[in-house]
Amino acid sequence: MRIDLHNHSYYSDGVLSPSALVHLAKEQNCEVFALTDHDTTDGLNEAKNAADKLAIRLIDGVEISATFADMSVHIVGLNIDINNKILQQGLQQHQDLRKRRANKIADKLATLGIKNALKQAKLIAKTPLITRTHFAQMLIAEGHCKDIKAAFKTFLAGKNDNTVWSSAADVIDWIHQSGGVAVLAHPFRYRLNKRKKVKQLITAMKAADCDGIEVVTAHSSFDEIALANQWANELGLSASVGSDYHGWANQKVQIANLQKLPTSSLPIWSRF
Ligand code: AMP
Ligand code: MN
Ligand code: MN
Ligand code: MN
Repeated sequence: MRIDLHNHSYYSDGVLSPSALVHLAKEQNCEVFALTDHDTTDGLNEAKNAADKLAIRLIDGVEISATFADMSVHIVGLNIDINNKILQQGLQQHQDLRKRRANKIADKLATLGIKNALKQAKLIAKTPLITRTHFAQMLIAEGHCKDIKAAFKTFLAGKNDNTVWSSAADVIDWIHQSGGVAVLAHPFRYRLNKRKKVKQLITAMKAADCDGIEVVTAHSSFDEIALANQWANELGLSASVGSDYHGWANQKVQIANLQKLPTSSLPIWSRF
């Protein structure tokens, strides 16, 4: 069965509409598809309409930013109730924080001689939620850097981003309050130089009541899949799979084109 539980539309930093994504998922023979935009569920109604028409199972999802030990981590909520008040209050806080952060980023860029950055980032974004990816695109379009990696490195990541999101424990609680399951996204993509530290992060997420981790992502090596699966099993965590598809040109990631979970794993979808 082809499953993809991590995807972005233009309701956050993806390129495509929710319905275009669902069509693409169907073309790839994906049977279970989750839309997981950053800190918003606003794309899910459109995705649901498209999924019903195409007879593909849509899982209501969201990817929520969180702060853990001075680092930003991403927690994917799956099978959430989008009408849940506690979840929506939490997401609203993050949307407000994103507005303040976007102003701060633009002010900082202005001091470097880059004018009207917020205005241009908003022109690139199709919906009101602004991410650093929109600033990266704007910086590339204006010739300030050659690619997205350079844009993050020079202007947007590391010491240029000290946003304090809600704690991982709180974010996991919002997801649980809304009936969903919480999954640590892309465990090998954080700024952790040693595998021991990745395991420590996963152990801490388990202590914060997280339900699972992404064992298979679009960029996972065989080694990473085996390790993530081993740690998940040791800690009693379920395993998720997600491409983190954004629809960006010139990237190879495709929806639902993922390696299989190891047979010893506990698939997260057995919980919804
Ligand atoms: P934000 O949620 O506004 O902090 O933006 C985070 C998003 O930026 C991530 O979900 C990625 O899509 C993207 N991103 C973060 N770091 C990088 C990077 N080094 N290169 C490309 N994209 C990145
Ligand atoms: Mn993103
Ligand atoms: Mn992420
Ligand atoms: Mn993502």
